[in-house]
Amino acid sequence: MARCPVCGEALRWEELIEQMLELENFGRLLTDKQAFISAFEGFVFTCPHCGQKFYGRYLELKELEKVFELLNDFKGGIDYENKKVRLKLTNLLALNMMLEEWDRKVKHR
Ligand SMILES: [Zn+2]
Repeated sequence: MARCPVCGEALRWEELIEQMLELENFGRLLTDKQAFISAFEGFVFTCPHCGQKFYGRYLELKELEKVFELLNDFKGGIDYENKKVRLKLTNLLALNMMLEEWDRKVKHR
């Protein structure tokens, strides 16, 4: 789970991505994983809990890769006009992690 590096509160990926939607080229970033990751790492986010600003690079990169995949898997997951993320990224991510864990357990039986 992503947490604010300043106050430690849980962050919702939907909100983080929504902050990034102000980037003109966000849609284009979704076509290139490396470009997406470096844009995320250099982006200055504002924590909705404490109001402090921090760079994306302080967040969990493993989750970011999944977020990138989810946004690509579900076209239309972003409402560019209203700058909203329609996908429940945080929930999908938790589900995804759970399935992977389950998969690992089954394979090692
Ligand atoms: Zn915070």
